[in-house]
Amino acid sequence: MSYERVTFLGLGLIASSMFWAMRRAGMRAHVTGYARSEQTRATAREIGLCDTVCDDLASAVREADLVVLCLPVGAMGAVMAEAAPNIKPGATVTDVGSVKRAVIEAVAPHIAPGVYFVPGHPLAGTEHSGPTAGFAELFDNRWCLLTPNGADTDAVVQLSSYWQALGAKVEEMDPDHHDLVLAVTSHAPHLIAYTMVGVADDLHRVTNSEVINFSATGFRDFTRIAASDPTMWRDVFLTNKDATLEILGRFTEELFALQRAIRTGDGEMLHDYFTRTRAIRRGIIDAGQDTDAPDFGRKKS
Ligand code: NAP
Repeated sequence: MSYERVTFLGLGLIASSMFWAMRRAGMRAHVTGYARSEQTRATAREIGLCDTVCDDLASAVREADLVVLCLPVGAMGAVMAEAAPNIKPGATVTDVGSVKRAVIEAVAPHIAPGVYFVPGHPLAGTEHSGPTAGFAELFDNRWCLLTPNGADTDAVVQLSSYWQALGAKVEEMDPDHHDLVLAVTSHAPHLIAYTMVGVADDLHRVTNSEVINFSATGFRDFTRIAASDPTMWRDVFLTNKDATLEILGRFTEELFALQRAIRTGDGEMLHDYFTRTRAIRRGIIDAGQDTDAPDFGRKKS
């Protein structure tokens, strides 16, 4: 059974992509979008994002069968505290936040009896944000992880079908395990990219524009990642603190080992290490999560 009325709280990259993916899938649900700023609401109306765009949380959620929190993780608790009393029994609340345990702790206490809370996280995104950043294909063949934490089975099944209709593959996961896995695959890599671009920025002052003019693909990939939304990523690190610090500790140990191999001229160690990491890249391509088409950083999007 599909939802008849869907409400997005927050109208950025993820909400707008979900909306366009719903339209592409031919879903006939009435879609309401809430955004706090007049500018975002005006843009949404201009580009036809959502059937109704509103500035009032209570009326945005009142009729909804599905409420999707599409906000920075740190804003979800306060927004849900205000919206929750207006959500009807039988409705499902979900979110798309990049961290799960902190979202559960912030949102679950506000959920009224009879309303189902099924946290989620689509593993799909870009460095762009805002209502014009979305596109229908964002979730195609990407994982959407649900961390139901004991939620009603029918509500979980219905939300799974919804995400599948948007193009995603769905899997359930324990929230703490989710946060550890994402610390490895997403959160620590983002921090490393932010750091590397920061280092280059310092160097840039020494070398003028050479860092920009002659930037190679590795560095260009880092700059793309480091252009991601500052509010979203601040919240990710502050709310997934323990797992991120754990992974950064391990990262530092490995970095020291590689540093030592370089200093002592241990080419065998370096070669073995890079052979192992190359196999991981192959595994990602084989799993359909990226392509090996060469683009040397020239792709637009
Ligand atoms: P986005 O494009 O920056 O949009 C965020 C939206 O949240 C905007 O509509 C913004 O409103 C609103 N907002 C921000 N702070 C708010 C507050 N304090 N109160 C009320 N509304 C607020 O963000 P996004 O990329 O769609 O990310 C949304 C969520 O998806 C985040 O939790 C993120 O962790 C998760 N996620 C992101 C990605 C990614 O790659 N971007 C991937 C997977 C999951 P205004 O426009 O009015 O300022």
